[in-house]
Amino acid sequence: MAGVLLFGGSFDPIHYGHLIVSRCAAEQLAVERIILTPGAHPPHKRGQQLTAAQDRLEMCRRAVADDPLFEVSDWESRQAGPNYTLRTVQHFRAVLPARTRLHWLLGMDSLVELGTWYKVGELAAACSLVSAGRPGYDRPGLSELAGVLTAEQIEALRENILETPLIEISATDIRARVRAGLSIRHLVPDAVREYIAARGLYAAC
Ligand code: ATP
Repeated sequence: MAGVLLFGGSFDPIHYGHLIVSRCAAEQLAVERIILTPGAHPPHKRGQQLTAAQDRLEMCRRAVADDPLFEVSDWESRQAGPNYTLRTVQHFRAVLPARTRLHWLLGMDSLVELGTWYKVGELAAACSLVSAGRPGYDRPGLSELAGVLTAEQIEALRENILETPLIEISATDIRARVRAGLSIRHLVPDAVREYIAARGLYAAC
């Protein structure tokens, strides 16, 4: 059965942490495709000034232009309201061939917050939630999810913490480095670094 790994985020900007971890997760899950879905309005980034969705989308496209494993979807970027993951998964369920295995990848910082996500029980039923370690974030106990997830869903979340490399890169740090006039070489693909420089992104935020 074909499988797809969906990976959403603000990607402001996309960086090697995202790329290394998602590629490694895709190998472990034996999926043929990773679909990056940069969100126009990520609910967990409310109140944060994000770079224009078109710029974040374009950086994703340039980051993976020469990697056939990746695709970039503009679907979330085109949605008016908050980008609830459940809605995105339902969209891909509707457009991908029937019986496609759908996985949604979360970094450990996102797994820690999962209880605050929109209709998380329905989300866990609609796809397989898989997660990747991130420096600074311990595996959560997950027992606090008992009110919103079934025991089987919580067990699946625990089992689906993948063995991926711990990469200490964050978009927050990249933005701060650009603002401080420091290099972001080796933190983002060259095509993304060049785009940031050409568009003057993050220089004065
Ligand atoms: P910011 O610093 O602006 O919060 P970020 O680096 O966390 O950004 P996001 O676009 O918010 O990047 O993250 C999208 C998804 O990728 C989230 O699930 C997040 O947990 C995960 N992620 C981001 N960076 C890493 C990393 N270095 N290792 C593992 N997962 C990551």
